[in-house]
Amino acid sequence: MSSRIAFVTGASRGIGRACAQSLAAAGHTVILAARDLEKLEEAAEEIRAAGGTAHTVRLDLSSAESIQQAFAKAKEIGPVTILVNNAGVTRDGLALRMKKEDWDTVLQTNLTGAFLCIQQVMQGMMKERWGRIINISSVVGESGNAGQANYVASKAGLVGLTKTLALELGSRNITVNAVTPGFIETDMTAGLPEEVKQKMLAGIPLKRFGQPADVAAAVRYLAGEEAGYVTGSVLRVNGGMYL
Ligand code: NAP
Repeated sequence: MSSRIAFVTGASRGIGRACAQSLAAAGHTVILAARDLEKLEEAAEEIRAAGGTAHTVRLDLSSAESIQQAFAKAKEIGPVTILVNNAGVTRDGLALRMKKEDWDTVLQTNLTGAFLCIQQVMQGMMKERWGRIINISSVVGESGNAGQANYVASKAGLVGLTKTLALELGSRNITVNAVTPGFIETDMTAGLPEEVKQKMLAGIPLKRFGQPADVAAAVRYLAGEEAGYVTGSVLRVNGGMYL
């Protein structure tokens, strides 16, 4: 098992936190990044208590300067050769009334932020002649979803970005893949009305909602040596809700 340095955005809770735990359990040094340093430290402590190696850096994806500073700190630890672009936000509403501010926030955080993070690690990965970039998209990036024009555009954009970078970086032994989770039980989905949840559940062949660990397992696979011939792929982790 070779040990790498993995940078996970949005690692303070939910799917990102589970990804950091799983990558640490696989023997990698993990750098947990998000806005809430206190929560990040809590997550890092949990990893250390389990015998893993974890660092934290503050990162606000809505600021190019913050992204630059976070990666400058990360590079002091060593070359980041695994990047998990997981952080994401929603600002739902029908397109007719969607405020530009809500469009911008979602696109900036979910898509532009991810791209700028990739730009920060590309050169280092080329130098190492090894890299894994994993973008957390969403089932709705493939299916569309009424009331989420901004979010869906950002997630579909991530799939396009994934495929394009897989083409650009393949010759450098850097793989770029997307994971599209379905309904995962986290803070992001906790606020949905019960009847909406039940309707969604009825459309999931595996008859249960996903857990952050379900997504983390896919990320851990794509980050590993054994996934070395997988690039430009979109791995669905959705219980069969969209095929
Ligand atoms: P979550 O529980 O709401 O966590 C979101 C994470 O993103 C938090 O760690 C948050 O940390 C971070 N974040 C938000 N804005 C940020 C910013 N401006 N800069 C840096 N970090 C920021 O969400 P989740 O459910 O775990 O979702 C994780 C990813 O999976 C997202 O990209 C989401 O779109 C995707 N996804 C989720 C589901 C689902 O059903 N839950 C389904 C499909 C796809 P701070 O607030 O501390 O910054």
